[in-house]
Amino acid sequence: MSGRVGKVSPDERLKVWVRAGGRCAFCNVYLLESELTRRPVLLGEVAHNVAASDAGPRGDARLSAKLRNSADNLLLLCGLHHPDSDKRAQLDLLTVDQLQALKSDQERRVRQATESVGRKRTGLLRMQGHIRGATVDVGLEAATEAVLRSSNRFPELPLSFDRQGVEIDLRHVAGETSADDTYYKAATARIDEVVNQLLRPAVESGAVSHLSIFAIARFPLLIYLGSRVDDALTVDVFQRHRATESWVWPEPAADDPTFAVRRDPPLDDANDHPATEAVLIINASGTIHRSELPVSTYELPAYVIEVEQGVPHTDTVRSRTTRDSIEYAIRTMLGQLEQDDKSIRTLHVFAAAPVSVGVTLGRSVGWGIHPRLVVYDRLDDGTYRPALEVTTP
Ligand SMILES: [Zn+2]
Repeated sequence: MSGRVGKVSPDERLKVWVRAGGRCAFCNVYLLESELTRRPVLLGEVAHNVAASDAGPRGDARLSAKLRNSADNLLLLCGLHHPDSDKRAQLDLLTVDQLQALKSDQERRVRQATESVGRKRTGLLRMQGHIRGATVDVGLEAATEAVLRSSNRFPELPLSFDRQGVEIDLRHVAGETSADDTYYKAATARIDEVVNQLLRPAVESGAVSHLSIFAIARFPLLIYLGSRVDDALTVDVFQRHRATESWVWPEPAADDPTFAVRRDPPLDDANDHPATEAVLIINASGTIHRSELPVSTYELPAYVIEVEQGVPHTDTVRSRTTRDSIEYAIRTMLGQLEQDDKSIRTLHVFAAAPVSVGVTLGRSVGWGIHPRLVVYDRLDDGTYRPALEVTTP
């Protein structure tokens, strides 16, 4: 058998181009665009390692026509290096093994490089509960849209058994409207169950390294959820925006509100020994005045996290910039506690804030040595009741 044997099929040709990333295996020049005109032209040549014909360069009569013309025997080369590599005078250097090694190395590097430039993945974590008897859906479609449109990541459902259901479903936990201890005990148990049985193994196995959180529930449960999510995870917390009725984070704008923290002295300064408890007020979507709080808090100092411009309303936290400035204020406060208020071991939390702030607060205090939080629910008559304690797990 001699002469040209067979042809390279379009399928094998395509494999060669794609595996090579459109570049010459020798010089790495890009072969899909003219340097002269910048037009998209195919400059690459599909070159044989073992020649197509028995008598060709590196020819081997033992190799079948099919194998000679398969992508595994072919290299993508530029117009200079294709004829160069076939010159008889240097075949002692450019051996079959040598070209095979060159090709394998190129294909491995292309594959690795293209993996890291792909859209990064994120796991969706949806927590769905009632708020004062009302259901606001965290739909899978809405969450997926929010990730695709505002996070440049590819959403996955590594925590869903059926790849459809809500991951933490609190809607079946009885007693939400009265929200007594029994309710909070059952709801936090449900959160723990999912975190321990699904999230933790997924993080440990490397299946999840980034999490997008969509949560609707009473505020204390949002804080609790945040405190249970592994600190090693990078987390993006979403919220439903009243103005757009969407979970998509709007693009940051120059005039996005920012938050700061300040420390106020006790209203009723009867004690002169250092306080072991303090109040934390977060006024992010409305304003809570200290005079509305239980009288027992009057003798405590208060940390107040407040918007630096204007009066807070339902859409004050309108971009990630604002959300992150609240997180920064929370961390600043924790730093101040560690520095100047070391005796304080309990924070009484009163918040008028969107869901993203609840989860974020939980994230901030869940890890490390921080005070325990006593989180309050606002009752229908406008008074507050301690609802849930959140401590480091
Ligand atoms: Zn080349």
